[in-house]
Amino acid sequence: MKSKMAFKRFDAELDTDVCDPYNNAELTLTLRMGFRQINPSGGAAEGTYHDYGKATAPTRKIIKWTDASWKTWKKNFVQSAESFWHGKFWLINDAGAFSFTKSGETYYPNVWCRFKLIGNDASDGSNHHTIDVVRLHPSESWFGSHESLYDSKDTNLTRKNTDSKGKSVMQRAHVHEVGHLLGLDHVDVGKPHCPASGDTNAGACYGIADDDMKAVMGSGMQLRAENAYPWRESLRYFALADLLKATLNPYSYFISPQLLQAPVASLTAVWPAKMQRHYPRTAAEVQAGKMITTRPNRKP
Ligand SMILES: [Zn+2]
Repeated sequence: MKSKMAFKRFDAELDTDVCDPYNNAELTLTLRMGFRQINPSGGAAEGTYHDYGKATAPTRKIIKWTDASWKTWKKNFVQSAESFWHGKFWLINDAGAFSFTKSGETYYPNVWCRFKLIGNDASDGSNHHTIDVVRLHPSESWFGSHESLYDSKDTNLTRKNTDSKGKSVMQRAHVHEVGHLLGLDHVDVGKPHCPASGDTNAGACYGIADDDMKAVMGSGMQLRAENAYPWRESLRYFALADLLKATLNPYSYFISPQLLQAPVASLTAVWPAKMQRHYPRTAAEVQAGKMITTRPNRKP
């Protein structure tokens, strides 16, 4: 079965047709970004633009986009951000959802998290997000970007911070920005030095401890299991729909519907994320809490 749901930030598709004793269900989040060129005024080859697009902020030199530079920049953005987020998480089926029977054995597939990024022009009506992009003059090394205003160098690996050992913490800003578009907050949001009700763009929210600083939702490039949140949240809706259907069938879920009706609150709640492949499990394996990471001796 393939089912689709449209969310505010992205579309989601769950495919259980691919399931067998070796292959998990697949959940694909599709994000459509619309990019819009910002060019020097009056059709000039060079000009200036304010940091953050704010009239009171300093200006940086910008140059006019060409068809070729625009195409190349967009392609690089889309391919590198997609491959960063695609295929990194497996959601563990503790719910007992989406079961199927093969050779007399009932299996519970886990869910592989896929990601598709589509780069459109801003005029496309189907975009989830629209982003303005300035093309920086080669002499400029920094520009004040924000969530809907990027610069052409945001795809470059850049030093963002220094850890406690004096080592540079590097990041390609666009993969961090795509994390925000998927609904992720900065790594330290919710900690005492970065209260969720305060300014979550404050420096401390990007991580104080080295490990946090190096996280992709901090100043680095490291993915964490908690970054699977957008997939877990989407899957909750598919699982709930499946569960409500399942009450008509003889097979039963391992959990109550209430657990799926509340937002994903913690890493250990339903559909915990792992960053390693885990094979579909039998009911006995689920109940024993077994995680199957090596190819099991099964007849498919
Ligand atoms: Zn950010």
